[in-house]
Amino acid sequence: MDTHGLIAEARRQDRAALDEQAGKQLLNAYGLTVPKSVRVSGAAEVSAVFEQLKAPVVIKVVSPDILHKSDAGGVRVNIGSPAEATAAIKAMMASPAISASRVDGFLIEEMAPAGQEMVIGGVRDPQFGPLVMVGLGGIFVEVLADVAFRICPIEQRDAEEMLDELKGAAILKGARGRKPVSREAILDALLRVGGEGGLLMNHADDIQEADINPLIVSEVGAVAVDARFVLTKA
Ligand code: ADP
Ligand code: MG
Repeated sequence: MDTHGLIAEARRQDRAALDEQAGKQLLNAYGLTVPKSVRVSGAAEVSAVFEQLKAPVVIKVVSPDILHKSDAGGVRVNIGSPAEATAAIKAMMASPAISASRVDGFLIEEMAPAGQEMVIGGVRDPQFGPLVMVGLGGIFVEVLADVAFRICPIEQRDAEEMLDELKGAAILKGARGRKPVSREAILDALLRVGGEGGLLMNHADDIQEADINPLIVSEVGAVAVDARFVLTKA
């Protein structure tokens, strides 16, 4: 896939950021695993989608005006049937935050296997160029700011050090009765984003900010279930 074309298309549409589907296409082009998904414009298309995807699914609003979909009532997980999906979409469309926004449709996607939520991010520094970030998801990143940064491009060894730096690193190894998660899968994703020839290096002129939040890491792999890329101002 032509990832530069994908970004050029978003610029043609005067968008400040890639929508979630385009963001996931970009990640997929760099070898990260994303959930299988279909975008619909409304509840009428739901039944056909259930024949293409493995239930249960997640339904998310797609809107350039909504940054935090959950806060706006725009994410429903574990939807098992077309009837439930239809009801979820109708409820979303009726909710105040969503009905006041431009809505480009709804993304219906498969559920990632359960695991530890991590965050991989990127930011373009005016002096150093792209930086890559990794952290544990949820309160670890939001409240404790337990994250590690490096200037791109990173190598395998840098990626290893970044994970070891996290104060919550023990969680990945299965502390407190949790199952250990795949360290290889996190390292692999981190290098595909921040390594030489990786996403941030190849698109350093176009990506101001990247946020994969969360990357859900299980025992066997890592799935990027949310992706946001803010474009540099032309
Ligand atoms: P936002 O960050 O805009 O609120 P997300 O797309 O990150 O929306 O979804 C919110 C939460 O829902 C995620 O943090 C994750 O816990 C869960 N979630 C979203 N998509 C999936 C998925 N495909 N599989 C499993 N869980 C998901
Ligand atoms: Mg998110």
